[in-house]
Formats: sequence, structure tokens, C-alpha cells
Amino acid sequence: MSTAFGQSTVLGYPRIGPNRELKTAVEAYWAGTIDATALEQTAAALRSDVWRTLRDAQLDAIPSNTFSYYDQVLDTVVAVGAVPERFSRLGLSQLDTYFAMARGVDAEPALELTKWFATNYHYLVPEIGPRTGFVANPDKALREFAQARQLGIVTRPVLVGPATLLLLAKATEPGFDPFDRLDDLVEVYADILTSLADAGVAWVQLDEPGYVSDRTPAQIEALRAAYTRLGQVARRPRIFVATYFGELGDALPALLDSPIEALGLDLVAGSGNLGRLAAAGPLRGKTIVAGLVDGHNIWRTDLRAAISTGTTVTRLADHVAVSTSCSLLHVPVDLSAETRLDPQLSGRLAFARQKIDEVVLLGRALRDGTAVLPPPLPPAPGQWRHHDVRVRLAGLTAGDRRRSPYAERALAQQARLSLPPLPTTTIGSFPQTAELRAARAELRRGVLDEAGYADLMRAEVERVVRMQERLGLDVLVHGEPERNDMVQYFGERLDGFASTDHGWVQSYGSRCVRPPVIYGDVARPAPMTVGWSRYAQSLTSRPVKGMLTGPVTILAWSFVRTDQPLADTADQVALALRDECADLEAAGITVIQVDEPALRETLPLRGVDQKVYLEWAVGAFRLATSGVADDTQVHTHLCYSEFGEVIDAIDALDADVTSIEASRSKMEVLDDLAAIGYHRGVGPGIWDIHSPRVPAPGEMVEALRRAVAVVPAQRLWVNPDCGLKTRGYPEVEASLRHLVAAARELRGS
Ligand code: GLN
Ligand code: ZN
Repeated sequence: MSTAFGQSTVLGYPRIGPNRELKTAVEAYWAGTIDATALEQTAAALRSDVWRTLRDAQLDAIPSNTFSYYDQVLDTVVAVGAVPERFSRLGLSQLDTYFAMARGVDAEPALELTKWFATNYHYLVPEIGPRTGFVANPDKALREFAQARQLGIVTRPVLVGPATLLLLAKATEPGFDPFDRLDDLVEVYADILTSLADAGVAWVQLDEPGYVSDRTPAQIEALRAAYTRLGQVARRPRIFVATYFGELGDALPALLDSPIEALGLDLVAGSGNLGRLAAAGPLRGKTIVAGLVDGHNIWRTDLRAAISTGTTVTRLADHVAVSTSCSLLHVPVDLSAETRLDPQLSGRLAFARQKIDEVVLLGRALRDGTAVLPPPLPPAPGQWRHHDVRVRLAGLTAGDRRRSPYAERALAQQARLSLPPLPTTTIGSFPQTAELRAARAELRRGVLDEAGYADLMRAEVERVVRMQERLGLDVLVHGEPERNDMVQYFGERLDGFASTDHGWVQSYGSRCVRPPVIYGDVARPAPMTVGWSRYAQSLTSRPVKGMLTGPVTILAWSFVRTDQPLADTADQVALALRDECADLEAAGITVIQVDEPALRETLPLRGVDQKVYLEWAVGAFRLATSGVADDTQVHTHLCYSEFGEVIDAIDALDADVTSIEASRSKMEVLDDLAAIGYHRGVGPGIWDIHSPRVPAPGEMVEALRRAVAVVPAQRLWVNPDCGLKTRGYPEVEASLRHLVAAARELRGS
């Protein structure tokens, strides 16, 4: 059994397949059209393809157990026997228990779904309590290891590490901290390690990205203790602890102190790791796995810079391997599938398949300097720079991000809009019906022409406007039928953005997204939404809200440039939106909503970096929205209610009205807003649109009563939690009827 780690590796690889084969198979299984055996056959074929691809590319340390039917955190929950009782007692097969945790069943809601660090991937939150019975269940890892071995490939099984698993978990009862179970859990990992060793596993990868966030000294001590214990397991594979998405800080020396054999560091998102490594002193035979190839973005690596960083690492450690900075799960599978991209752009891109070649090349270069490097990239084409945009950016002043005092605006808006107290509205989208999706597919296939498509959309807008009038809503929306996705839609209409044909990335479970690529200066060749809003407004005397996606959200759900600060890219997007706002105003739109659901998601993991981020994020929103007249009302929408460290930033957005999610938290968020002195309009959602349930009128009245106790009726808006695009019309009509009735009841009282 070889004990060397190898020269080159990746921390993980996309598992959805080049054409989203996994999505198709899993959804067919859910729909009952294929059985578990057929599903497993597809899965096995996808895994074999990945291993062969990695081997044929001459990667010499190949991971396994990076495949998942849904989520790797959920897989690890199963591997340590932490399936919550509420699912194990359902008496389902293993596979169906797994999917029940992921998707819920009639009797049991699913595990909570949350963002995986600062990425767009979502994991299922483990539920851990004082009595969660951990037990080693390494079947999946063993089966995949055996499957690869049959192909002649000896792999390195990957699991989420014990400390991170608990840091990501949620307590099953108040006042309990899942992290207190670390000692128990580590014993189960010890058992798993022994089973793996018995099966011939030489190396195991335990992922501990939880430590690139701020952690207490006690949590870091616990990490050291955990790996000290695992290092002492008598029969075990060599342990590679992988970290990614940032700087390890004090956890770096703690891990190096423990008897693990290899430590992985993100040298792309965590440039400070290098200094920490140098300061850590002699590395006593440990392997450093240097994450030199960005696993979270799609640009080709600057190989010369990477070699220079890698060379620094080789001076510090006896053994150095090259890897991706994180799992390649976060990038699309293969650039060669993109035949319609501008060659000037595609020549600068690397998807997962291309990144393997970079890793292999860098591994060789660092080992013996024999690798032949391709020529450096030429400078970006001049036409990607936009002179006017740059001049405008350079000339911005503080005044470009400031509106009149709120009190003045509020008066002007009230005079113009004459809204009743407790005005009712929705968040923007109405149901995306099968007919709308079919129309878009026909447009793509050329069966329907642009004019025919526009006719269908106009008919839909009219229907949605009439329905809102009938229901008695005060501020209407056009319903967003023309939008496939709230970021993609704008990306397709802005210069500097490219969209891919097959660039799918897993977002959660079987759901994949195709993020646009921002490659050049952003400019708006023509209005993007004005036609729809103008048309909707022409149908009614009530105000129709213009609907835009904010700069931070557009960046968060795209692949971004790395050749200029994110703040500059955000401001470029903001300028385009600012012009869009002006055009909406000119078209007679009096209320404009700029959605920023991603504001909190992209908050940096380390406290020290958060202030700078929030400053540019807020600045970009204000740049986008502050060009409008006092009597134009600016709304924003955020898809969550736990504001935590972003609450001041939300206030600083200076929107006239902010709609937020609140129904599940029973309006508690309003107290938090009151506590910081928030004094503008607020619309706490009174209908949880994430469930098909129609809330009874009384429930909504109750929620509103709680809200008016904290927020005066003049500033309190009545709306659902989020957009309605995933809901069906029957429940939407019924719920909105109840919502309007609830507002009227409170107005009368
Ligand atoms: N306006 C968008 C909609 O209603 C907002 C969605 C979101 O914030 N996620 O769909
Ligand atoms: Zn939302």
C-alpha cells in the first residue's frame, strides 16, 4: 500500500454529470418512473466516468465518496448514524429515508436547507441533540471505494469532518449546543477510520471548512483534541484534513500540532494561509496540499503566479501536493461543451475538466520543473472595457449615493401615491405556469417567434394585473412572467455578461443553476424591463411596481471578474440599474423595487472582512437607487428574517420600504428593527409562501396585530414573505384574498 499522498489532486468533482444525468435520474425516481436499481445504475456510471476522467488526466490522488444523491453533509449524517428519529421511525427503505430527510414527506418536513459557506450550494442542516445516537455506518464510502478499485483506481474517501459537521448542525432543543457532542462523534469517526483501513484505504479526506470562519479558542482547542484522538487510532488510513474558502487562522497551527499526515489550505481565497504556514515552524514530515487552482470561479489559473506560490510552500514543507482550492462542485463540468462562446472569452475560462489539467501541470512543475507552460494570456480585449462607464465611475461622488431625508421623501410619496394605511402588495413574481415555461421553451427552439412570445407574455401581464385589481391590492406588480431567473434575465441584457449553454452548477439536490459570467465592463445597451412595466401600468390606475434585481444579488449569482475589485463591478452594475430606474420613472412608474435577497449570503466568513463588504454592497445599492425623484418610492426585498450582523446595513440601504420574511419567525424581526431605530416602511411577510398552505384570515390578522404593536400603520406594509413564482394560482388567489381582508380589518379597527 503506497503511503505517499501524490502530486496532484482535487478536493471534489461535479457529480451531476455532463448533461445533468443525475438530476434526470433522481427526479425520475421521485416521480416513480424508474426504480432504485435503475437509479443506482445511473449513479454508478456517473461515478465511474468521473474516476476515469480524473485518472486519464493523470491526476495521481483521486477522491471518492464525493458523489451524492443529494448532499454530502446529509451523506455524512448517514455515515455517523445521526438520522433524526422523526425520519428513522417512518419505516422507509434506506434510500427513501434519505430522500425523506432531503425533501420531507407528508408527515415530516425536510431538514432545513442552508447556504454552504459563501457559495450558492445549499446543504441540509444536521439535527443533533443530547441523545442523538451516533453509530458508524461507512457503507457508502466503502462501496464507492470498492467500485473504483474494480476499475483499478485506488481512491481517497472524503467525508465532512466531525468538528465542521457539528458546527453546521442545529440543536434539536433550545439551549443545547451540538458542538458539545464532539467527543462522542469523534469515537464514531475512529470506528469509520478503522473500517476504511480494513478495506484497504490508504488516505482519507476529512473536510473542516468550518474553521475558516471566526472560531473561539475553545472550538480550536476542541479541533486539536479531535484530530489528536483520531491520529491515535491504531488501525487507520492516513488523515488529510482539507480546509477551504478562506484563512484558517489559529486553527492552522492547531491542526499542524495534531498527528494528521496532510493539511489542505486554500491559497486562492485564503492568501494569508501562506504567512501562517511560514510562522508555524517546521512541518515534521507533513504533506501540505496547496489549493492553487480556484475551485469556486471559472477563470484559467495564472500558472506562473501559482508556481511561485507553490514554490514558497515547497520551501516550508517536505511534501507538497497541488489541488483545487475547494471542491470543483462549484463550477460547471466541461468548457468544451460551450461551442457558442466568444473564443476570446472561452480561451480565458477553465471549468472542472480543464482545472484538472491545470492541477496536474502545476504538480509536475513543482516536482521537477519539467512542465511546459502554455503562453501567458494576452491582455483582455480592448472592447471589453467600456470607456463611458469608466469615466462615470471615476467621477462618482458621495452625492450620487444619497437621497433627500426620508421624512421629505415620505411626504412627497404619500402626496403622489395616496396609499391607505397598511398598503397591500406582493413581492413581484406570480406563478410561473406550465404554459409560460412551454412558451419559453418554444421560443428557444424557434417554434415561437419573439413577437408571438411577447404577445403571450402581455396577455399574462394583463391577466395578473386584472386579478390584483379584483383582489383589491394597492400596489400592483406585472408578475415577472418574462423572467426565467432574476439574475439570468438581467445578465442576458447587459454588456459584459456571457451566458453558457451547459454551464450547470448544483445549487441543492437535483436543482442546478447556470450562472452568467461577468467578463467585461458592465453597460446597458437598452432598457431591460421598461416595456413590461409600462404596459402593466397602462392597464391600471393603481401604481405598478417596477421590478429590478440589485447589484449585490447579480454579483452573488454570477461568476465574477477577478481582475478588478468586486466593488467596482458592483458599481458598474449599479450604474446600469440607475439608468433603468430613470427610464422606469420616465415611463410613469412611481414605485420601484430593487431586490437584494443575496445581501447576507455573500457576507465574508471572517468578521474583519465584513465591514468592507457591507460598505461597498450598501454603496452599490444606493448608487442604483438614489437617482430617483423624492416622490418615487424605492422598495427592497430580502428573503430572510435573521438579520444578525447585516441589520445596520439593511437600514443603511435607505430604501423607503423593505419587505422581509417574517411569518415563520412570528414577526420577531420587527423588534430587532425597532431596536436599531429603523424608521422607514417595512413589510414583514404574513404568508409563508414556501409552503402550499393557505393561511386562514384570522392568522394573518393575528400577525398584523403583532406588527402594528411595533410599527405604526402608516409605515407598515402587508405582503407575502417572498415571490409567488413557485406557487399555484388556486392557493395564490385564496391567500391574497385573505391578505387583503386582513389589512382591511385592521384598517377598520
Ligand atoms: N421579485 C422577485 C420575485 O418575486 C424576488 C425573489 C427573491 O427575492 N428571491 O420572485
Ligand atoms: Zn424573497
